[in-house]
Amino acid sequence: MTWRAPGGIEAGAAGQPRGGGVGIAVRGLVKSYGAGAALKGVSLDVERGELLALLGPSGSGKTTLLRVIAGLEAFDEGSVAFDGASTAGLSVGERGVGFVFQHYALFRHMTVLDNVAYGLRVRPRRTRPAAAEIRRRSLALLDLVQLGGLERRYPAQLSGGQRQRVALARALAIEPRVLLLDEPFGALDARVRKDLRRWLREIHERTGQTTVFVTHDQDEAMELADRVAILDAGRIEQVGRPADIYAAPRTAFVASFVGDPTALGVTVAAGRVRLGGFDVGAAPAGVPDGPARQFLRPGDAALVPAGGGVPARVEALLWASRGVRAEVSVAGSARRIEVDCPDPAGLRAGDAVGLRFDHLRVYPLG
Ligand code: ADP
Ligand code: MG
Repeated sequence: MTWRAPGGIEAGAAGQPRGGGVGIAVRGLVKSYGAGAALKGVSLDVERGELLALLGPSGSGKTTLLRVIAGLEAFDEGSVAFDGASTAGLSVGERGVGFVFQHYALFRHMTVLDNVAYGLRVRPRRTRPAAAEIRRRSLALLDLVQLGGLERRYPAQLSGGQRQRVALARALAIEPRVLLLDEPFGALDARVRKDLRRWLREIHERTGQTTVFVTHDQDEAMELADRVAILDAGRIEQVGRPADIYAAPRTAFVASFVGDPTALGVTVAAGRVRLGGFDVGAAPAGVPDGPARQFLRPGDAALVPAGGGVPARVEALLWASRGVRAEVSVAGSARRIEVDCPDPAGLRAGDAVGLRFDHLRVYPLG
């Protein structure tokens, strides 16, 4: 079944023809709570029709940024524009923002259908569709989020994942210009999260809604988003397509955050990288001599027979869904290093091995 915008709203009427310029323009946002600044000069463009993930650790300012965009939070400096027009002075309602939170409080005493219809029913009469039309649109949205047939249920009769799908249908019902999702799947278990991720991606393909999706989970961000913006301590560190960020983290923070790396203290001398007294290879261009950090992803190095590579010792073998990883130590380096180990047969904790470094991601300290 193909989905049509409910209510004769053709593409563009809700302000989001795909690929049509900047949907949300954030410039120089500064926001302080008392002493500390939660946003320290954030600028960001979200293209119209794109799904952008805002990725960062807890406390980095993701929720604050989303709330400022929505108009739920005042700020000290900067500006926010939707489709080229400033939002200054516009209320939350006037901005036309759909919001889904981690713990979205659906109205418990209302059926699923009434929850979805709510935003349309409370409109002033002038802009409110007829009752039959509201019902038709709400049912169409429930089909879209694959909850057709459950419209008479109450939230308590739904699973967590189903409730968040109702929350999304409810946010979409008002035909928002932008959709803001703050860790909407954060409270759900891993399996359901993964399904919903894929499902949200499909919904987005169909609706083309300008969307900002907040998460602290890099897999979620990378799998879902057209582009990812990485936030740390109130600053944007990098914005780009998932593959580009993954391939070329621009800062040490980004390198430490994506790809599940082990952070190692190294020294760069005469263009060579030294770890615990061993030469592990040529330093990437532009890294000056001196103390540095190397972010080693599990696939960046391989175990080889003792005698080759850097002398190392297997400390443990870790079995996980991604495959087996070996935890190894190198003489002179305190940090245990996690390395992919595609062929663990015959390998045991305590074995002497060699560690071959295939890819060096090195960033100067400070
Ligand atoms: P995130 O969503 O990335 O976890 P937040 O935007 O919630 O981060 O918070 C960013 C920073 O602002 C944190 O240091 C947090 O403690 C602080 N903060 C957030 N909301 C408030 C508030 N209402 N009062 C004071 N400090 C706050
Ligand atoms: Mg948050």
